[in-house]
Formats: sequence, structure tokens, C-alpha cells
Amino acid sequence: MTSSPRTLVTGAGGFIGDHLVSYLKERGYWVRGVDLKAPEYSDTEADEFLHLDLRRWENCLEATKDIDHVYALAADMGGMGYISAYHATILRNNALIDIHTLDAAREQGVRRALFTSSACVYPEHLQTRTDIAGLREEDAYPAAPQDACGWEKLLGELLFQYFPTEFDLETRIVRFHNIYGPRGTYDGGREKSPAALCRKVALAEDNASIEMWGDGEQTRSFCHIDDCVEGIYRLMQSDYDQPLNLGTERMVSINELAAIIMTIAGKTLSVEHVEGPEGVRGRNSDNTRLREVLGWEPSIDLEEGLAETYRWIEKQLLERQ
Ligand code: NAD
Repeated sequence: MTSSPRTLVTGAGGFIGDHLVSYLKERGYWVRGVDLKAPEYSDTEADEFLHLDLRRWENCLEATKDIDHVYALAADMGGMGYISAYHATILRNNALIDIHTLDAAREQGVRRALFTSSACVYPEHLQTRTDIAGLREEDAYPAAPQDACGWEKLLGELLFQYFPTEFDLETRIVRFHNIYGPRGTYDGGREKSPAALCRKVALAEDNASIEMWGDGEQTRSFCHIDDCVEGIYRLMQSDYDQPLNLGTERMVSINELAAIIMTIAGKTLSVEHVEGPEGVRGRNSDNTRLREVLGWEPSIDLEEGLAETYRWIEKQLLERQ
């Protein structure tokens, strides 16, 4: 056993969790991964991988046994299509996971636990224009998120904020803004816009067309997975216990995102705008506090990160043929 904290990553079969396990292993940690499923696109590097349903209390006790640090990434989630259709399921599943994971961590004497929240906590009325100002952490209240995903993440944040006031457990809370990169879901209905567009562009013949939900003018900022795991780790090591944005401040429209991917692919495609869930009209991260707290912020260039992601998705699609 090493002297570094024994670490649990929940959701280790998912996109960010799988990358985080690799990151922690590179730094010499002993890591237990827990998930309903193994990673889809690679073999886990975790020392131990348990298939457990973390909605259940007794499974959370097993997951957190003999653990010092918990990175809580397990969640029932997806892209806009999924989160705009299954409000009850998302609220129920994730509330059960969050409460049972944190309470089991307390019961098992875990020292520190990090909760993965989301930019979806921010009020809908601050995100009604495409040229929106970056969202600051304090903008989350008075609360009025767009859907169940946002309310569930606010509940999780509050649990992780209140627990240390009554129990002997430290917590950290990160709010992600659109994480993308290789080894992420790219089809099946739970994929997010960068992966979905990479897949559509990769599958299209040159000069053909691809479909896009909405008019494509909605804006977002995107953060590469390597910056994401670096930020999670830095936050866990810090002494900051309030919610913190983790994203980039470069806002692009979904049309611009598609154009960047077409350039990477070397294809000229027309875009057919169809009706579909678009989410909020505009969303960006304000990284002022992130810079203050961590003295660091994500820096991987969007074009470079998307090129890597596109090549990876293209390769997966070719291998499937
Ligand atoms: P993901 O869907 O790839 O990973 C989540 C994992 O949780 C999945 O492997 C899933 O099987 C697992 N899971 C779901 N229900 C479970 C259960 N009952 N028991 C055990 N495991 C269960 O998602 P991700 O992108 O890796 O996201 C990780 C975390 O970051 C989540 O909390 C998510 O809400 C948050 N987040 C991600 C983004 C993003 O852009 N990817 C944005 C905001 C917030």
C-alpha cells in the first residue's frame, strides 16, 4: 500500500471517471473504480473495479470501505436529448446516488469527498441570449435552473456543503462546463454536441448535409478532458470548499463548432436545422474565481482538442464497419 490516500472514483466506467482513474494511477494512487458498467472504449487502469449500483445504500458502504478520498462522478446523465426527456428518472436516480454515496462516505470515515456538479445549476433567465456574460459561482442563487438535472445538482451541492458543518468530512464541489474529448459517448442518444457533431461529420459524404437541433446559434464553452481531470485533481488538493466553475471562457455557437469540425475533417457539408431540444440559448463560464483559487485554468485549444476527438471518433466508426 502506498502512503497516498486510498482513492475511490465513482462513475469510473464513464467518460470523465475513466480518464480520472488513468490520471490518478499515473500519480501513484491506489484507485478503486465503481460503476454499473466497465469503461466502453478502454480497459480500466483501476487497481480494483466493482460493478455496483450506487443508488443502493449497502453498495455505497461497500464502495467507500477503507477509502480516504472519494471522487463522486457517478450520475445518470446524457446530452440534451436525454436530460430534457427523463426528468423524474434523473432526479430520482441521482438524488439516491448522491445521498447514499456521501452518507456512506461519512459512515466509513472517508476524509474528503468531491462532488461533480454542472453549469446546468445556473438560472435559466441568465441564459436567454447568445452573447451571454460568463456565469459566476454566486449567480446560481436565487435558484431557477432549466430542468431536473440542475435541481438535482443543486441538491447534491447543498449536501456536500452542509455535511462538513455537522460531520467530520471535508468536501469539494466542481461545476463542469461541457467536457469533451476522446473516450466519450458518441452515439446512442446520451452523447453531447461535440461528439454528436464529430460522428455526423465523420459519417457524411463530402458535400452532403448533416442535421442539427435548433438554429445552431445557441452558444456554449467547451473544456477538454485533460484540462478537466487536471482541474478536478487541483481542486481536491486545495482547501477550497465552495462550488467552483471548471470550463473555458471561449464561447462558440454550435454552428461555429460544426464549422471547426468540418475543417478538421476536410469536408464541406451543409447543415439542416431541425426541431429538437436546444437547452439554454447561451452559456459561458466566468473563471475569475477558478484563477483565484487554483492559480490555473483550462488552456487546451478548442481546435486542437476537437481534432483529437474527431480522429478518435472517426477511428471508432471505421473499426465498427
Ligand atoms: P458518464 O455518463 O460518462 O459517466 C457517469 C457514469 O455513472 C456512467 O458510467 C454510469 O454508468 C455511472 N452510473 C450511473 N448510474 C449509476 C449507478 N446507479 N451506480 C453506479 N454508477 C452509475 O458522464 P461523465 O461525462 O463522465 O460525467 C461525470 C460527472 O460529471 C457526472 O456527475 C456528471 O453529471 C458531471 N458533469 C459532466 C459534464 C460533461 O460535460 N461531461 C457536464 C456537467 C457535469
